[in-house]
Order: sequence, then structure tokens, then C-alpha cells
Amino acid sequence: MTHLPPVLFIGAGPGAADHLTLGAARALQEAEVVLHDRLVGDEVLSLISPPARRIDVGKEGFGRATAQADINTLLVAAARTGARVVRLKGGDPGIFGRLDEEIAALEHAGLVYCILPGLTTASVAAAAIGQSLTRRGRNAGLRILTGQAMEGFAEQDWRGLARAGEVAAIYMGKKSARFLQGRLLMHGADPATPVTVVENVSRANQRIHAATLATLPAAVAEAAGPAILLYGLAPRQVVQALPQLEEVRA
Ligand code: SAH
Repeated sequence: MTHLPPVLFIGAGPGAADHLTLGAARALQEAEVVLHDRLVGDEVLSLISPPARRIDVGKEGFGRATAQADINTLLVAAARTGARVVRLKGGDPGIFGRLDEEIAALEHAGLVYCILPGLTTASVAAAAIGQSLTRRGRNAGLRILTGQAMEGFAEQDWRGLARAGEVAAIYMGKKSARFLQGRLLMHGADPATPVTVVENVSRANQRIHAATLATLPAAVAEAAGPAILLYGLAPRQVVQALPQLEEVRA
């Protein structure tokens, strides 16, 4: 054990600062060094106290940019100075956030840490389309999947997923959309199964693309920003709380 302050792994949520926990907001104001991912929204970054040192480690999920080993080294080095260090990740750090690798590096160095969870993109995207991720009589479970694995497109339980009523939140699924479509149709999924692509979740440029399994590749092609695929869910008409709330009130 160590007398140094714990490294705080903080979930930033998918975009808007409104989605931060109060604990996370407070920790950002008290941080002295912040290492953050590319997917952390500007609104959240603006809450970091100005004198704090910010390091953009530029990772998007399993993306390139700073190599994971370099991030681990930076994190350990910053923590060893005794500074209050925050490792800020998009969404929830425990979902496709490579959290375990960074924890292992800290543990190896004898450093302590604490995790402040965040809202994962799936929760916020489901809210944006007015849907619930589980429903009695429809789906007794929710799948949280990635389209991308270390070796390429991720293989999944396609047969299970192809059953009527299944719901999956698919992260990093843009590149693999055609692959997903092919695998699911091959395993008997209904081409009319709804799939909603939600792009730039909880940001000012959020867009909802309603599609079906049959039209998924075209819908994904329209999404330029980060996107999540909500398989098995169609959008409902819902008043968007963010950022259009002011317009609704006016
Ligand atoms: N830890 C994050 C996920 C990181 S993996 C979380 O809990 O949400 C990166 C993937 O998350 C992206 O490829 C995309 O599928 C999704 N994602 C992250 N932020 C997003 C956003 N603001 N809008 C849409 N998708 C987002």
C-alpha cells in the first residue's frame, strides 16, 4: 500500500456534462493531472480546473492513437508524483474501456485506485429514442457487444441474437455493420428487425437513424461521428431533453 492519493478512474458519460455524476464533477475540479480519451465531450473537459495538466491520450475504444502501454506508463508516472490523478474515459470506464489493463499497471506499481462509474452510451442512447433496454415479455436480458475485436470483427452468439425480441447495444459497430447484418441474416434473423443507429449521443449534433437489419449498412454510412447500434429497438417519438430542452420551453 501507499500513502499516495488513489488514481480516480472516472466515467465521463457519452457527451453532455449533465450526464456526469456529482462525484465525478467534483473530482474533475480537484484534479491536478487528467489523462483523457478522445471521446470525452468538450463540455466535460471544460469542468477540469484550469491549472490542471491535461493529457489527451486519444483513444477511441480499441482504437489506435497512444498505445495502451504508453498510457499505462504515463498513468503510473503521474500517480507516483503524488498528484491527484484522474483517468477520464468516455461513457462508463468498465464498458469497453480497457480498464483492467490500466488497473493492472497501477497494481503492479503498488498504487491504489478508485472507480467512479459513468453513464454508458447504451443507456443514454436508449433514453434518446424513448426506449427501455429490457422489457417484460420481450427480452429477459440485454447484450452489450462490440463490433470490433483485437483480431478483426467480433464473433458473437449469432443464433441467440437472431431470435425475435433480442436486444443488443452494439459498440464500435460501424465498420462491422455489413458483417453483423450478414451473420444475423444467415442465422435466421428477420430482415425487418429494427436497428437504431444513434450518432453523437448526448451531444449537440446527436442524430438518430432508424433502420432495419435489411437497411443497416446504409444507415451506418450516414453516421459520420461515433455511433452505437441499438439492435431490436425502434425509435419512439420523444422530446429530447438535451440539448433541445430550452427550445421546448421557449
Ligand atoms: N466506455 C464507453 C464505450 C467506449 S468504446 C461507454 O461506456 O460508452 C467506444 C464506442 O462507444 C464507440 O465506437 C461508439 O460505439 C460508442 N460511443 C462512445 N461515445 C459515444 C457517443 N457520444 N455517441 C455514440 N456512440 C458513442
